[in-house]
Amino acid sequence: MKSVSIFGATGSVGLSTLDLIRRDPDAYRVVALTANSDVDNLAAQARATGAQVAVIGQERLHGALREALAGSGIEAAAGEDALVEAAALGADWTMASIVGCAGLKPTMAALRTGGTVALANKESLVSAGGLMMEAARAAGATLLPVDSEHNAIFQCLAGSDLDSVSRIILTASGGPFRTRRLDEMADITPAQAVAHPNWSMGAKISVDSATMMNKGLELIEAAYLFPVGLDRIEILVHPQSVIHSMVEYRDRSTLAQLGSPDMRIPIAHALAWPDRIATPCQPLDLARIGRLDFEAPDPERFPALRLARAAANEGGAAPAILNAANEVAVAAFLAGRIGFLDIAMIVEDVLDRYSAPTPCAIDDVLAADAQARVMAGEVMERLTA
Ligand code: NDP
Ligand code: MG
Repeated sequence: MKSVSIFGATGSVGLSTLDLIRRDPDAYRVVALTANSDVDNLAAQARATGAQVAVIGQERLHGALREALAGSGIEAAAGEDALVEAAALGADWTMASIVGCAGLKPTMAALRTGGTVALANKESLVSAGGLMMEAARAAGATLLPVDSEHNAIFQCLAGSDLDSVSRIILTASGGPFRTRRLDEMADITPAQAVAHPNWSMGAKISVDSATMMNKGLELIEAAYLFPVGLDRIEILVHPQSVIHSMVEYRDRSTLAQLGSPDMRIPIAHALAWPDRIATPCQPLDLARIGRLDFEAPDPERFPALRLARAAANEGGAAPAILNAANEVAVAAFLAGRIGFLDIAMIVEDVLDRYSAPTPCAIDDVLAADAQARVMAGEVMERLTA
């Protein structure tokens, strides 16, 4: 039996993970499940899996969670520290699927136990990549990429020496506005932005896909996971989302990983690695798909790509600042407070005005993150005044 914990169990990735685990209940023992505010869903999942502990991020919901778990024997905990404590309990396999930099501390705590961490929470790696990779190394932990592109690259690398890699090609669907003209982008609504053509995902990553900041974050994520040099990581738009990414070797042989756009495929890969398990996912029907298209990304209409590459090249705290400003701007866009094009504008403004020394510890990352959030808030106040 494999012990598993899922951080962000009530989200899109968390629920897909639970779906796989519940198909083979004898193979897994659930240690911890967590959520931020969705008490009912968290309690239901904890009861269904017989979890040892359930943690709700919002401290004020402790009583509600206790009530929802009454009589189950499942421990109810609440608050940010409780999330970290649950991660420190350790499990053979931990899914890191909290959204945003809020996942950083629990993910670091899980890595420090030396187990396997399946990483969906890209924002934590973008913000603290160097420190996170170092913590994994020091603890002997295994960090497995769940983000579909990075999982694809991991599979295409198949343990090869990075010296033999000439290019990593990150594919991007281009999102719902791939063909929209720039002068028609200002009026994009949150409902339009979260309607991704190929993937069903949480609201934040759906907006990131629409601005293509998601691909920018993934560029930084790839640079930490597969350090081949930023100039060797390219972005290619592929609207069908069938090829999830590619690796070109120095002999010019290129390997690609393909599959239906269903996150349960990369999650299952990380769950079973180095083995394989069966999934209920649709087989790929290439005859029906008929054709695969490719095009270069357009940095004019998607400035987030340029901003993320610049932050990646700058290194230090810049990726954390980029990420924090983006988190604030996306939340404001989803709340109807700012326009679609304001998102990248706010990120650029904060990156231009604020820089911080290279973080030596997680607290330095969180301090840069907090200051970038304050500054993004100030830009927004000017915009909406
Ligand atoms: P969702 O918004 O669907 O789920 C987020 C999860 O995190 C929920 O369980 C939520 O709890 C919890 N959460 C949110 N904020 C906090 C907080 N402050 N403290 C603790 N827990 C919190 O997101 P997704 O599942 O779509 O994405 C999760 C991560 O995986 C993101 O980093 C995303 O970029 C990445 N990812 C997602 C993919 C996808 O297909 N969805 C694909 C590749 C990567 P509650 O429900 O209570 O709010
Ligand atoms: Mg992805």
